[in-house]
Amino acid sequence: MLDLSRFRNRMVETQLAGRGIRDRNVLDAMREVPREAFVEPGFEEFAYEDGPLPIGAGQTISQPYIVALMIEAAEVKPGNRVLEVGAGSGYAAAVMSRIAKTVYAIERHPSLVESAQHRFGRLGYGNIDLRVGDGTRGLPEAAPFDAILVAAGGPDVPRALREQLTIGGRIVIPVGPGGGHQRLLKATRTTETDYEEEDLGAVSFVPLIGEQGWAEGGRRRAANQPANSRYQSLPEMIADAAEPLPEFSDPGFGELFDRFADRRVVLLGEASHGTSEFYRARAAITRRLIEKHGFTIVAVEADWPDAAALDRYVRHHQPFRPGLEAPFRRFPTWMWRNTDVDAFIGWLRAHNDPIEPEQRTGFYGLDIYNMSASIAAVLTYLDRVDPEAAVIARERYGCLTPWQKEPSTYGRAVLTSGYGKCEQAVLQQCQDLLRKQLEYGEADGDNFLDATQNARLVASAERYYRIMYYGGAESWNLRDTHMFETLEHLLQARGPQSKAVVWAHNSHIGDARHTEMGVIRDELNIGQLCRERFGEEAALIGFGTHTGTVAAASDWDGDMEIKRVQPSHPDSYERLCHDAGVTRFLLDPGRHETLRQQLLEPRLERFIGVIYRPDTELMSHYADASLPQQFDAWVWFDETSAVTPLGPKHAKPGLPDTYPFGL
Ligand code: SAM
Repeated sequence: MLDLSRFRNRMVETQLAGRGIRDRNVLDAMREVPREAFVEPGFEEFAYEDGPLPIGAGQTISQPYIVALMIEAAEVKPGNRVLEVGAGSGYAAAVMSRIAKTVYAIERHPSLVESAQHRFGRLGYGNIDLRVGDGTRGLPEAAPFDAILVAAGGPDVPRALREQLTIGGRIVIPVGPGGGHQRLLKATRTTETDYEEEDLGAVSFVPLIGEQGWAEGGRRRAANQPANSRYQSLPEMIADAAEPLPEFSDPGFGELFDRFADRRVVLLGEASHGTSEFYRARAAITRRLIEKHGFTIVAVEADWPDAAALDRYVRHHQPFRPGLEAPFRRFPTWMWRNTDVDAFIGWLRAHNDPIEPEQRTGFYGLDIYNMSASIAAVLTYLDRVDPEAAVIARERYGCLTPWQKEPSTYGRAVLTSGYGKCEQAVLQQCQDLLRKQLEYGEADGDNFLDATQNARLVASAERYYRIMYYGGAESWNLRDTHMFETLEHLLQARGPQSKAVVWAHNSHIGDARHTEMGVIRDELNIGQLCRERFGEEAALIGFGTHTGTVAAASDWDGDMEIKRVQPSHPDSYERLCHDAGVTRFLLDPGRHETLRQQLLEPRLERFIGVIYRPDTELMSHYADASLPQQFDAWVWFDETSAVTPLGPKHAKPGLPDTYPFGL
């Protein structure tokens, strides 16, 4: 096993002692128990990060600080008999076992109990008695307990647990009305009948599900309601809340989304980059927002210079100078060169035709990959407006020339030569251009915006490729921050009343703070940044499917294949939607509070990008997320089909490429 003791010690110093945990027993125990042994395989390196981690069955191992805080508050001492309810991975029980005489622990998921028991065996922790069961009833046969810890949030303190405390015994439990927000409560039994209570602050735990907790379907159990009484299952609740979606061509489709029409930005996701229904649904919603609600920006997860060619087409501008690289020739071509995008672009051009040029809706790219096309676009622009500046720009961008074809190798070169290489040159170029706004921009609105965005793209891309080699969250965060800032520049350029629709993958538009990517990897995304910047003025809409076909490659730069999408995983949100039995629907959890609360507990969610590997699907494509916090609404198609790509998959060298957009 990895030796992570250095990280463990640092965690104890900074996250625990640094935040005021003083109990030596607790600090020593947390220095002793290897948290990496309690997380899912593959997550060991994150074991000492300051947050919860997934442990399977849609559950989490608590943040180390919360574990320490609860054990300290419960005053667990040597010689004590302790009970833990909601043992999960077994980590907190293991920590307490290093202090107390005996730890009893209860967990309702048998698979978690089995894994935890293996861990205790491997680590030689022999004083833990872990069982499968409903912990809200406590463990009468082993009571009374000096301390009880409850690691899941209940509506109140279960009576059975209060009564199983010794006089002087302490229980620490998150209590609250549901929805993942509770107060951490400490109750000390002072007499047979009296308890002293103390509020330890706000916390967020998964629900305590059981006879004296929440019912699985979401409601609090009535006092006389037996544990096995009939309640509505989650799929049943989803079916009740589902608003069926009409055909894409039916105006009723777009109308269903009028509830989001007063937002400044409406972000539309997708669960894969190759599913026709997601494109067609987004097109139908976008048409409505443009036609009836004044949206004039369509900003998509495509490279700026490529989308700019389509923008000129839909807004009836002259095409770019011949000789510039044709749009969307790079992998993955099917993402934008497909019949659904083609139909939308055709519609947008026709829609714009009778409209005043300044009022026309534009089609913009937010992404940063096509650095070489952006360099070419900046140079073309300067050649026209300021040939002297073009000479300087050529020299500056020359720094990147050796890597333009394969920019991903730039980072390696920077690492070996050990300095920022082209950073200064491209930043200077971008600043120079921005400084000339008055000089160039006044007369040249759209073209100036295009050139500055390209210069910004080169600066971001230079940094992106430079830091890509360090791995980690930084390059992802840079890319999403660039995409968000581009959106802001667009809104600024189109004026204070302007409104935008964004098309990007669920992983970019679903608030990252409520997914594994944010919680574990510290990654942010456009959805999160939009919420932080626009608050209620942003609507985040996710999309999902159970099965069908998808256009995807097996490897980066590989050929497009039509692949079968596996039926969704039994522990996923997708499976709940499938089990609801409604083939296509809009789910607006904001209108169904009980359901929203029940969906809060993190579950698996599927993410298919341009690569799909069904064989390793669980590892490669599923991640934990809390769907109602990640999105404001969810669009469901039970069975979906692959997009149809346009024209040949690869450009034919030497042929002028005017296809498919007649540019
Ligand atoms: N202390 C755990 C650890 O260190 O891994 C964290 C546990 S997790 C935050 C909460 C656990 O409570 C989940 O595994 C959940 O299945 C469990 N749970 C919820 N209600 C329960 C109940 N009535 N009885 C037993 N376990 C329950």
